[in-house]
Amino acid sequence: MGMDSDIKLIDENGLRLDGRKFDELREIKIEAGVLQRADGSAYLTWGENKVMAAVYGPRELHPRHAQNPSKAVVQARYNMAAFSVSDRKRPGPDRRSVEISKLISEALEEIVFVEQFPRAAVDVFIEVLEASAGTRCAALTAASVALADAGIPMSDMIASCAAGKIDGHVVLDLGQKEDNFGEADVPLAIVPRTDKVTLLQMDGDLTTEEFDKAMELAVGACKEIYEIQRDALKRRYSTSLEGYEDFEEDE
Ligand code: ADP
Repeated sequence: MGMDSDIKLIDENGLRLDGRKFDELREIKIEAGVLQRADGSAYLTWGENKVMAAVYGPRELHPRHAQNPSKAVVQARYNMAAFSVSDRKRPGPDRRSVEISKLISEALEEIVFVEQFPRAAVDVFIEVLEASAGTRCAALTAASVALADAGIPMSDMIASCAAGKIDGHVVLDLGQKEDNFGEADVPLAIVPRTDKVTLLQMDGDLTTEEFDKAMELAVGACKEIYEIQRDALKRRYSTSLEGYEDFEEDE
């Protein structure tokens, strides 16, 4: 962010490097229930980002001193694979992944009915297989679907998307070069049905008007993303019913 550069991010036709308009999302696809061993899972592609989320629990939290006697603890672990970026990323937790894991845990605690499961853990493992900006939003979006797929009691799903500023214009969903050379990046996560904000960060600077415009774009995108999340769950549910019918016919 804010790196000095002559790179032009918007062309004379008002289009971005990948041909998108200011208010256009990268393509998002989600598939729920892709892992057999996890209680719930989701695989999400978002532009060139590829993210897998796996959920386990609620289950007894170990070590026991980490238990909360009045509610479950949501433990998200965000990890970027060594091969997720063009220069090999040093494996293991770093400051950035610890920060993102904490943000995601706190956001998900807002939707899970944690009071129903004292002393328990809900573990959410997020593996970023390919990263191309916006991975915290992609991770939170995938994790919400995986939680729902696990059947964990929750009020709703969270959808997340960033908006920002490039070449003086407020735009939706920054790509990698836009993130590197743009002026601001504002990741947002909301519960789309209530507009409750569960994550909001700002890297760079925006005026109040620009911030309002960025929020308008990001909130609108979260609602679109929410429909993709719901659709992934519907597809998962209908295929398992079909499987069940086949099973009965075989008998
Ligand atoms: P987000 O992925 O949520 O936008 P950042 O703004 O911190 O988070 O990172 C932007 C992008 O920069 C990431 O999506 C990734 O493509 C790239 N990136 C982050 N960390 C590294 C790293 N250690 N090595 C190479 N690229 C990285």
